[in-house]
Amino acid sequence: KSRRRWERVVGVLREFEEGCSTPLARLRQVVDAMAVEMHAGLASDGGSKLKMLLTFVDSLPDGDEKGIYYALDLGGTNFRVLRVQLGGKVSGILQRQVESQPIPQELMTSTSEELFDFIAMTLKDFVEREGNDSESPPNKRRELGFTFSFPVRQTSVSSGVLIKWTKGFAIDDTVGRDVAECLEEAMMRRGLNMRVAALVNDTVGTLALGHYHDEDTVAAVVFGTGTNACYVERADAIIKCQGLLTNSGGMVVNMEWGNFWSSHLPKTPYDTSLDADSPNPLDQGFEKMISGMYLGDIARRVILRVAQESDIFGDITSSRIHEPYILRTPMMAAMHEDGSPDLREVERVFRETLQITNIPLKARRLVVRVCDMVTRRAARLAAAGIVGILRKIGRDGRAAAGGRRTESSSSARRTVIAIEGHLYVDYSMFQEYLKEAMVEILGEDVAQNVFLRISEDGSGIGAALLAASHSSSI
Ligand code: ADP
Repeated sequence: KSRRRWERVVGVLREFEEGCSTPLARLRQVVDAMAVEMHAGLASDGGSKLKMLLTFVDSLPDGDEKGIYYALDLGGTNFRVLRVQLGGKVSGILQRQVESQPIPQELMTSTSEELFDFIAMTLKDFVEREGNDSESPPNKRRELGFTFSFPVRQTSVSSGVLIKWTKGFAIDDTVGRDVAECLEEAMMRRGLNMRVAALVNDTVGTLALGHYHDEDTVAAVVFGTGTNACYVERADAIIKCQGLLTNSGGMVVNMEWGNFWSSHLPKTPYDTSLDADSPNPLDQGFEKMISGMYLGDIARRVILRVAQESDIFGDITSSRIHEPYILRTPMMAAMHEDGSPDLREVERVFRETLQITNIPLKARRLVVRVCDMVTRRAARLAAAGIVGILRKIGRDGRAAAGGRRTESSSSARRTVIAIEGHLYVDYSMFQEYLKEAMVEILGEDVAQNVFLRISEDGSGIGAALLAASHSSSI
């Protein structure tokens, strides 16, 4: 009888493994689909699930920036204020100060004025406390980079209208308003003489810092609670904005790739139920397969099913494994990377978090396998997404759209992708699988010229750099 149950367990696992498999042929289809959707999103507003938002950033920091600049990073549960002192080409970033603070829960659903007043106050305190910038005259207006990681329809590099709140924020009177103006008004009310010189998305900040360190950086990807990407596009390829003129001939485009979808994505019944139970069904499909907010819960759903099909986890009726999002991705990573022979970390997470004890080694091994399948799929799809961008800009070793190979000279060019986010930085298996898939899709020859570079604190520091390169004093 117990043998029959074990067979059912094996059946559930095999079904999941097949459902979420990502052979090279499928990854190639995802690459193609990403490039096609990018084209469609650039052709017209609403032409694709990819919004392909203009950022009006047409030049990226190159190291010449000098002076003291501030940044404000609002995009999740924490917000951060930063102060960066730039010393130009030779000295680089001389000094950086960062302070992080949680946003009080009640402000996330209050009014625009309350939220922005709170932010302006915190910023003012910070400026005054750290305020020994003796180089600048006392009443000089300071320049700020504002990282605002929600979908924004930009009207210039320093202004833009909020399309919708995400990530738990819900303040109706901000939607449709210029968020830079909201902040400037609050700073004025609080007596802080500061100008928003750049309004950017976190991915754009990451790209800016990446480019500051390495001029071959052409795109940036964030793998954190959510996931998103941006890259440098040719202005004439942004068809929906005819006659767009920029100094450099290019512009950074914020893809909002978390909302990407393609029928080639390997979706399983667990993804379907996660989506149906989420507050935004049929939205952010790519993100729900890839980002830190969701991976732990996909694994939980598979493990729960196994537990229901068999008794290898014992009696689970009073355990917490039924609770959505109880298994956070960092715990999942810890179990996945458990190197101890008796899988002590798996035992600990099950006991402490899920309140399931005495699980045999065989069941612990199975848990590790589930984590592996979930993360491997996520990382490989993420890699396909990145190659999709490379395809679109002709850096994947093929001609832009036709698929013909170009001479090796063009593939010998260095291409750097800036990456930020704790899912990538702290989860080494995710990182390994992603890199492995990049090589698989691109081939060794091309892959050796593509570099994934971590851009630490990029979303904030990058915004300060953009404030510097777009400052009114230059
Ligand atoms: P964000 O601003 O999007 O919250 P972070 O870069 O701070 O960006 O990412 C936080 C997310 O990263 C968390 O939601 C979590 O899912 C994931 N994460 C953090 N630490 C780890 C870890 N050790 N292993 C795997 N994922 C992690």
